[in-house]
Amino acid sequence: TPLLGVLALQGAFAEHEAMFGKLGAATVEIRQSRDLDQQLDAIVLPGGESTVQGKLLRDLGMFDRLRELIANGLPVFGTCAGLLLLAKHVEDGDTHLAVMDMTVKRNAYGRQLGSFFTRAEVKGVGDVPMTFIRAPYIESVGEGAEVLARVDGHIVAAQQNAMLVTSFHPELNDDLSMHRYFLDTMVLRRRSGA
Ligand code: GLN
Repeated sequence: TPLLGVLALQGAFAEHEAMFGKLGAATVEIRQSRDLDQQLDAIVLPGGESTVQGKLLRDLGMFDRLRELIANGLPVFGTCAGLLLLAKHVEDGDTHLAVMDMTVKRNAYGRQLGSFFTRAEVKGVGDVPMTFIRAPYIESVGEGAEVLARVDGHIVAAQQNAMLVTSFHPELNDDLSMHRYFLDTMVLRRRSGA
């Protein structure tokens, strides 16, 4: 069974644990630096508040270690605030781990009225229900990254090597397809050396 480390400082981490649990993966909560010493097969960065999460990562002394693990190829799934943590360029916000080649617009749909639900096609995944909560969108991706989905012309899902990001919250609907896609194409395939 793959072991996924779910960053559990703030935000929707419990929902991710439940989703991956349904898919038969084991999860462990990452709350302090030494939690990263385990043999993890992937990291999950949940939605929440990227400024708070980024500050906690630094205050708890986890920032450099986490960044190094991801930069060295440990698969990572970032949703909403997690996407913001991974982006190299953030408009209207700070950059944090800065490992994925994309420019992201924070609170892109407005702060108060920015929550909505829709469905859209995700490349390689299918039709996916999408819950957006004060979400960012991706304005552009760099050469190494691939666009997986757009809503109203804005990029809402992308991947680069073993990094998968969505600006919506796949953990807040009972559709497992994004989690399964991450597990199958980025975690298990890598473990089997394919
Ligand atoms: N707007 C939030 C931020 O800046 C992200 C919202 C979310 O994760 N639902 O971090």
